[in-house]
Amino acid sequence: MSGEDAPRRPAPRKLAVDSPYLHRLQRRHFLLFDVAPIFGTVAALAFLPVHPIGITEIALLVGGWAATGLAITVGYHRLFTHRTFEAAPSVQVVLAVLGSMAGQGGVLSWVAIHRRHHENADRDGDPHSPNLSGGGFRGRARGLLHSHFLWMRRHEYPNIVHYAPDLLKNRLLLKVSRYYHWWVALGMAIPAVIGGLVYQSWTGAVSGLLWGGLVRMFVLEHIIWAINSFLHMFGTMPYRARGNSRNGGVFALLSFGESWHNNHHAFPDSPSFGLQWYRLDPGYWLICLLAAAGLARDVEVPSRDRLEHGASAPPPTRPPPENGRTTMDRTEIITWSRGYLAEALGVPPESIDPAADFDRIGVDSVVAVALLMEIEQRYGVDIPPDELFDEPTLDAVAGYLVERAGQVA
Ligand SMILES: [Zn+2]
Ligand SMILES: [Zn+2]
Repeated sequence: MSGEDAPRRPAPRKLAVDSPYLHRLQRRHFLLFDVAPIFGTVAALAFLPVHPIGITEIALLVGGWAATGLAITVGYHRLFTHRTFEAAPSVQVVLAVLGSMAGQGGVLSWVAIHRRHHENADRDGDPHSPNLSGGGFRGRARGLLHSHFLWMRRHEYPNIVHYAPDLLKNRLLLKVSRYYHWWVALGMAIPAVIGGLVYQSWTGAVSGLLWGGLVRMFVLEHIIWAINSFLHMFGTMPYRARGNSRNGGVFALLSFGESWHNNHHAFPDSPSFGLQWYRLDPGYWLICLLAAAGLARDVEVPSRDRLEHGASAPPPTRPPPENGRTTMDRTEIITWSRGYLAEALGVPPESIDPAADFDRIGVDSVVAVALLMEIEQRYGVDIPPDELFDEPTLDAVAGYLVERAGQVA
């Protein structure tokens, strides 16, 4: 039954997805990139008697920390999430690759999660608020632990189509995000190779890997996470903003300007988080440097008037939801989905085999979730994500939709 005369109502756009498949990916990511650096740091200290650190390890640690940290604040955060300036494609790629090496997730996922954080700051739906775990000392301690670290074990995955439609159209970024795990591995390999070459030994390579890879990741992660946890509980609040964001000026240099977090929540469209020249903001300095070199433009800080009145930027506009489709035709579904994937991957639609596993045709979990969300919207149905991930082919998706339509009709 096609149900043409009984149009289905379009499903409201889902804001987040809960799926055992995605939770498995999150757990793996948590263990590999959040827990392992803790052990790596302990191992680095334990390795000191075998191989004392020298100027090489310190340079690898500080250099790697600054490169990945600046890429997170300038690239992931100020450029891709908040679009506070425009950057040349080469700059986008370098920032996305270096940001990936920080091990905080692929750029699209990071952006979607962070936009959801701003939208719901310290309310239901905020993926990492320290203020939703109850009152009293215990509630606050639980909240801090959750927002600093534990939330990453398992969380709702934001609907990437809703939160990052602009980035889904950026093929360069999609490609960088698809190789996320390789960038993290490269961020480990580079210091290992440098350590090995400088010391001409395997212990030198291990020492380079530990200090320039795992310790570097550990240090940066805890600085960035402290913004989510401590700076949503402690610190000063010069501006009115949604949620409980605070400034922690003493950490400005250490966090590349990220610790002006209340400023940032109040003026999320500003490339400068310090807002005033005397509030140190290395991330903004880098943006100004890029602009001076002709690699960045539209760098505009809020006017004095806006700063005085503390007016918050209007929320980002979202594309209006499309109407749900009423027909469920297998060929149509496959043709449309092929077109969607071809557009995202930058390949001709004919090259996408509907019977091939997503992995084989280069569709990673981010693009798969995006396709799923678009299909739900377009056909006005609700597909449990695991239906898709159990058998990730276009044939299976179309089969499921047609079968569901038959049941409904
Ligand atoms: Zn932000
Ligand atoms: Zn925040």
